[in-house]
Amino acid sequence: MNPGDPHHALFENLTQFTYLVATALFIFSLKWLSSPKTARRGVAAGVLAMTAAIVGTLLHEEIRRAVGEYGFFDAFKWIGIAIIAGTIVGIPLAMVPLTAVPQRTALSHAFGGLAAGLVGTAKYILWYHEGELTSFRTGAIVIECILGFLTFTGSLMAAGKLQEWIPTRPITYKNQNLYNLLLLAIAIAVGVLIIFKPNLWWLFPIVVILSLTFGVLLIIPIGGADMPTVISLLNSYAGLSAVAMGFVLENKLLITAGALDGSSGFILSVIMCRAMNRSFTNVLFGAFGQVAVKKEATGEQKAVKSTNSEEVAQILESANNVVVVPGYGMAVAQAQHAVAELASVLGKKGVNVKFAIHPVAGRMPGHMNVLLAEANVSYDSLYDLSINSEMDQCDVGLVIGANDVVNPAARHDKSSPIYGMPIIDIDKAKTVIICKRSMNPGFAGIENELFVKDNSLMLFGDAKQSIAAVVNALKGGGMH
Ligand code: NDP
Repeated sequence: MNPGDPHHALFENLTQFTYLVATALFIFSLKWLSSPKTARRGVAAGVLAMTAAIVGTLLHEEIRRAVGEYGFFDAFKWIGIAIIAGTIVGIPLAMVPLTAVPQRTALSHAFGGLAAGLVGTAKYILWYHEGELTSFRTGAIVIECILGFLTFTGSLMAAGKLQEWIPTRPITYKNQNLYNLLLLAIAIAVGVLIIFKPNLWWLFPIVVILSLTFGVLLIIPIGGADMPTVISLLNSYAGLSAVAMGFVLENKLLITAGALDGSSGFILSVIMCRAMNRSFTNVLFGAFGQVAVKKEATGEQKAVKSTNSEEVAQILESANNVVVVPGYGMAVAQAQHAVAELASVLGKKGVNVKFAIHPVAGRMPGHMNVLLAEANVSYDSLYDLSINSEMDQCDVGLVIGANDVVNPAARHDKSSPIYGMPIIDIDKAKTVIICKRSMNPGFAGIENELFVKDNSLMLFGDAKQSIAAVVNALKGGGMH
């Protein structure tokens, strides 16, 4: 309370009101983000919510008191520097290409975790010296710091793996999971000790160091392919550390926003695990990707039938129903505009074109949706796995830079690392055209029998160039 401030109640109400608006907007933002049709509105709502949260915080009593005591400039000096520093880092981060969004997201989580850890540490030092450390406060700070610091180093490692600053393959050693869990248990035990023995302040840096180390060790045994799942899990840790920070700072908005962040990150990880038919423990402790050797170099290969753009144009033009399956290769080639044009040209020729989007196609959730939205492909032509029920009516399946998500081994080969993962059943189309550059495997590192099936034709080449050539051939006309 600041009895000297005649406007105290007004500002207090304003802060609470902006926090309420921000909370509602965060909830709407998440709701809208869950559908491609409303996703843009969801982003705008999230930005508004964050702006309301910052404005509400700037009206906070302690900041107003600082303005009264030290003057406007001195009170806002550090806040201003932080805003400028955040903007300088944030703008280039927002400019990265879409293929780098997973690692950029990991970096954002790293900053979030570091901020939570540093705020917790600062509060610990401050309250320790002022003799205001209660058991509850210390407990909340310990949780905030463990989660914050492990999210910081864990997310840095995840970003490093995805950007290939460090090896993407799982780095494993004997009894690794046991040592990791032991390390976390020691960090928690030391944290609990600080709560009961507040005089042992020197234990605090030990908790910080153990948490930082645990973040690194948690991520190194996980392969690059699993990083997006791990990143959304780290997102939920960052959210939980924000909840703990909310209790430390007695800030309701941090608690609600952190809880929303934590739960949505967790739900996303669950959705991704389900889409890959993997368990959490398998993602976190399975060292996936290590045993998945590239078999294509080893054995004798069945002959593949390759085709060319003219033939593909002809086949597509004579089809009634075409299903396009985009994958990571479409993102790499930036072929989305060419693909959208192909769909539009075929549509004008009376061909019914649908897009089949696998939940883990590409390298991040919604990857294909974002690319196709950028190329103005109608949301109504996008289908999820439910399209499998009508695959027997599909004349031509056009696979563009997808591999694992159309690999029939997932249905029947129990020895395959992707066994059990639901796939787009494009092999059931009458003719399948696969557009990729070579016979190289996808991220799981395994052969794909779809490429050698009797009804399959390979259109070798970069997806953007190949599809553009097909569009040209179609526009060139001459075919019936
Ligand atoms: P894949 O990684 O299985 O295959 C991509 C294919 O694209 C490659 O075989 C490659 O073949 C081809 N390609 C690469 N560049 C080009 C290019 N310029 N032009 C044409 N083709 C190209 O991709 P999918 O989308 O099918 O599967 C995604 C994989 O990522 C799954 O294993 C999934 O589990 C995993 N994953 C996805 C996550 C997500 O959130 N989306 C999260 C975690 C994992 P070639 O080199 O011969 O051209």
